[in-house]
Amino acid sequence: MDNFQIVDFTSLSEEVKKLIREAVEIRTRAYCPYSNFAVGAAILTEEDSKVYTGFNIENSTLTPSICAERAAVPRAVCDGYLKFKMVAVAAHQNDSYTAPCGVCRQTLSEFCGSDGDIEIYLSKPTMDKVLCTKLSNLLPLSFVSYKKDSVINNCK
Ligand SMILES: [Zn+2]
Repeated sequence: MDNFQIVDFTSLSEEVKKLIREAVEIRTRAYCPYSNFAVGAAILTEEDSKVYTGFNIENSTLTPSICAERAAVPRAVCDGYLKFKMVAVAAHQNDSYTAPCGVCRQTLSEFCGSDGDIEIYLSKPTMDKVLCTKLSNLLPLSFVSYKKDSVINNCK
C-alpha cells in the first residue's frame, strides 16, 4: 500500500488549495543565497484555522540555517496554537517532491492534531500535481520520551 498519492491540484479542497498557495507565495521570499534552493511552508492550525507561513533562512556558517517548516512553527506556537491540522511545503525539484527533512518531521510531530497526525501536502511552484500524505507516513514510530500533557500542566 502506498503511503502517499499524487493528485491534481484542482481536485483538492479549497482549504488545501489556499494553504498550498500560501506556501508557494512565501517561498518567493526565501533567504537562500548559498543554496539558491527556496522552500516555503504553510501551517493550518486545528483551532481557528489560522495560517502561519515560513521560508528557509540560510546562514553563511550553514549550521544555523533553518528550514521553512521550522521557521513557520514558532510563529504558530507563539500565538498559542499547539495543534496543526495540515502543512503545505513548496519547492522546486525537477524529478521529485521536496519533503520535510528529518528534523522538521520530528518538530512537526510535537504539534499533531487531535487525531494524532498532520496532513502533509507537497507542491511545486507550478501547483499542477500535489503529493498528499500524512506525518505518520513520513515519521513512523516517532520519538516520545514522556507524557506531554503532564509537562505542559507543570509549566502553568
Ligand atoms: Zn527541515
